[in-house]
Amino acid sequence: MKDIILTGDRPTGRLHLGHYVGSLRRRVELQNSGKFDEIYIMIADSQALTDNADNPEKVRRNILEVALDYMSVGLDPKVTTMFIQSQVPALFEFTAYYMNLVTVSRLQRNPTIKEEIKQRGFETSIPVGFLNYPVSQAADITAFDATCVPVGEDQMPLIEQTKEIVHSFNRIYGDVLVNPKIMLAENEVCQRLPGIDGKAKMSKSLGNCIYLADTSEDVRKKVMSMYTDPNHIRVQDPGTVEGNTVFTYLDCFCKDKHFEKYLPEYHNLDELKDHYRRGGLGDVKIKKFLFNVLEDTLQPIRQRRQELEKDIDYVMSVLHEGCIKANKKANATLKRAKDAMKINYFDNDEDSISEYYKKP
Ligand code: ATP
Ligand code: MG
Repeated sequence: MKDIILTGDRPTGRLHLGHYVGSLRRRVELQNSGKFDEIYIMIADSQALTDNADNPEKVRRNILEVALDYMSVGLDPKVTTMFIQSQVPALFEFTAYYMNLVTVSRLQRNPTIKEEIKQRGFETSIPVGFLNYPVSQAADITAFDATCVPVGEDQMPLIEQTKEIVHSFNRIYGDVLVNPKIMLAENEVCQRLPGIDGKAKMSKSLGNCIYLADTSEDVRKKVMSMYTDPNHIRVQDPGTVEGNTVFTYLDCFCKDKHFEKYLPEYHNLDELKDHYRRGGLGDVKIKKFLFNVLEDTLQPIRQRRQELEKDIDYVMSVLHEGCIKANKKANATLKRAKDAMKINYFDNDEDSISEYYKKP
């Protein structure tokens, strides 16, 4: 069996540090490891429309933003197929068949969906498409025979749902679909990066993000406004590290080499944390350090983005070619699935439905 990656992002805004530590950074590592036979990264515009149907312009505008972010962090079109979900019709066909294998109550019990319904204020007016997006996500994953899905922790219940669909489908129609495995960031704090306001998740919809494309000045301002320990008022006060967003970000981004470069009076993050806990270490100092650490990652990304922005036609051509390749793959899987479901009335004589009449 081939090792295949599929994952993606909704074009509801530019990508942010949460995407980076939760999934993007890993994708690039996996891509460069050379261990995968095929890699598909999808811009999930159809999924974005399930809760943005009244704002199609937002989704349309952000397709290129996400593509630029992909290529700026190091996703390489020579190795990785980047494509747009709506341009692959087979995915909708898969979705339609999978909908018969899932109950409405099962979707309503999905913890991620429940949280997102609350967050978006849908109450009882939930768009059918939104409730159904876990099913369409199962279509995306299985259409590409994905074995590995690198995502953030909020996606766990969605991958669970995909596995259930694979199980039901294969039980009824034979061993057709590949069972995917979720791949979370190794560092637990990276699996769900909080927002700069300290809220549980950095999310485009919550407006608490540091974007990969933010200017250096934007990043500085955002870091300086970050939530820390509300009881750490004077420098000499002992401070708390747990739940302190600056330290959470340092946990995700900081390496020992950063101390050598920007804060040589400490050797590592443990020493910095100990000092903060004891008291005598001010928020401004740790924020300035975090700014430098983040800039170490963000500067090269920003530079590559600026280069790519000068040649948008090239970025468009990458997406266009990606869609062609994605269609080829998804159509082949769909053919396999429909053969197994016997939805292939005109394909070959032995299996034709007219056989019922021809038999003596
Ligand atoms: P939206 O608010 O429109 O849902 P989002 O910011 O949640 O946008 P998605 O496009 O839904 O972003 O998520 C894309 C991928 O990034 C998923 O794998 C998700 O788990 C991961 N991800 C998103 N936010 C974070 C975060 N704060 N920490 C870790 N991973 C994240
Ligand atoms: Mg999301």
